[in-house]
Amino acid sequence: MHHITHWIDGRHWQGQAARQGQVFNPATGVQSAVVDFADTAVVDAAVDAASRAFDRWRHASLAQRSQVLFAFRHLVHTHRDELAAIITAEHGKVLPDALGEVTRGLEVVEFACGIPQLLKGGYSEAASSGVDVYSIRQPLGVCGIISPFNFPVMVPMWFFPIAIACGNAVIVKPSEKDPSVSLRVAELWKEAGLPDGVFNVVNGDKPAVDRLLAHPRVKALSFVGSTAIAKSIYETGARHGKRVQALGGAKNHMVVLPDADIELAADAAINAAFGSAGERCMAISALIAVEPVADVLIAAITQRMAKLRTGDGTRAVDMGPLVTCAHRDKVAGYIEAGVREGATLVVDGRGISVDGAAEGFWLGPTLFDQVTPNMSIYRDEIFGPVLCVTRVPSYTEALRLVNEHEYGNGTAIFTRDGGAARRFQHEVEVGMVGINVPIPVPVAYYSFGGWKASLFGDSHAHGSEGVHFFTRGKVVTSRWPDPSQGGINLGFPQNR
Ligand code: NAD
Repeated sequence: MHHITHWIDGRHWQGQAARQGQVFNPATGVQSAVVDFADTAVVDAAVDAASRAFDRWRHASLAQRSQVLFAFRHLVHTHRDELAAIITAEHGKVLPDALGEVTRGLEVVEFACGIPQLLKGGYSEAASSGVDVYSIRQPLGVCGIISPFNFPVMVPMWFFPIAIACGNAVIVKPSEKDPSVSLRVAELWKEAGLPDGVFNVVNGDKPAVDRLLAHPRVKALSFVGSTAIAKSIYETGARHGKRVQALGGAKNHMVVLPDADIELAADAAINAAFGSAGERCMAISALIAVEPVADVLIAAITQRMAKLRTGDGTRAVDMGPLVTCAHRDKVAGYIEAGVREGATLVVDGRGISVDGAAEGFWLGPTLFDQVTPNMSIYRDEIFGPVLCVTRVPSYTEALRLVNEHEYGNGTAIFTRDGGAARRFQHEVEVGMVGINVPIPVPVAYYSFGGWKASLFGDSHAHGSEGVHFFTRGKVVTSRWPDPSQGGINLGFPQNR
């Protein structure tokens, strides 16, 4: 049985864990590894290592930091197939999708390679007579990054390349469901020349996170996961005086107007609802069909669903298994609830035939029609391959549904009308908007983040907000006086 442990101070941890978890290959249903769960002492050892490393790394020149980042970028790129294979083996998503995740993570590394430019401050010569004023941004210290199972490479990479480029030391706490790839990333950082202790990985569950939340030398926390936990992480972290950005769950709506290109909209709905088995925070799970578009759109979607192949992600299939047996059962429970609550089950993904081992955590693509806002399948984040169609009479009603939903991560509108699209982007209360683009994940030089219950905190991930989150500002007012310009003046300084 493969044994996964922590990575602290540039090496695998050597201790004996009191608690461990199981890691499965979701496509076979077979346990592939045990993972050590960190207790307080292990987290404290990681924080000690990171604190020591920070004391040196914060003084590394920008040139030195960007050289390490360029080397890391090269190594991740070179090892992208290997990283994708590790993701597929523990998460289950199909290999091309895993490769796509690595590539999107790399974009943030590439963004962080430009750190000398990103950290440039402002300078005002002669703000007052003989006085210059300038601003600088400095690192925070030790930063914790707690990530979900669904993007084991990309989500931590939204944060750590920028945190490290800004001069911080980080501790990543991956999901206990697919922890291996973070350890391979740690080895690549070491090979890239990053000093030991700047990048650490502690594995575990709630106790590890609780210690990161409480430890006085952890200055900032970036959390991504479900909303209930994100909210509590934000509140607890803030109570402990930390800077926190906590990204939560989602229920992304795709609005299709009657004038939309139906073929384009149907393709987009399929890709965005069933890619990665719907286990994406930007997946489309609510399709709002503005009548009279629903019948023709549902026909086009159903026709495409019949061709989707579900199976082992290492084979030539479209959709892999769900991450765990418990999660598969939870999603299947929502399908039962939808039927019970009166929605029309158009395609049932339960009991489909798959290209893979019978014991895998399978659930096929599922489609509901006639879904109403009071149903649990509309209200809750399902996080599986279940697409719910709600029929509405007008754009105004579609907009009302999107805006009244608890979540506000991503949304999309499909239309040929530029004016309607422009109105939607202006009126919709959601952080990331797609116009004829179903999964509008921003490029690395913009920032990723939702509104409402999809994000707690002030800063979105990566882009300029990422640089801002991982640094704090300082303004220097300086005078190099001529010795004759002294003098006592107890009044408040005024600029002259
Ligand atoms: P999760 O909330 O179960 O776990 C996320 C992390 O929190 C993991 O590292 C886990 O070990 C840890 N954790 C679990 N229980 C905890 C507790 N009680 N206290 C402290 N830490 C705890 O989420 P998941 O199932 O791994 O991931 C799916 C969720 O993540 C979905 O809700 C999805 O929408 C969300 N997500 C959001 C975004 C975004 O950008 N908003 C991106 C990816 C995933």
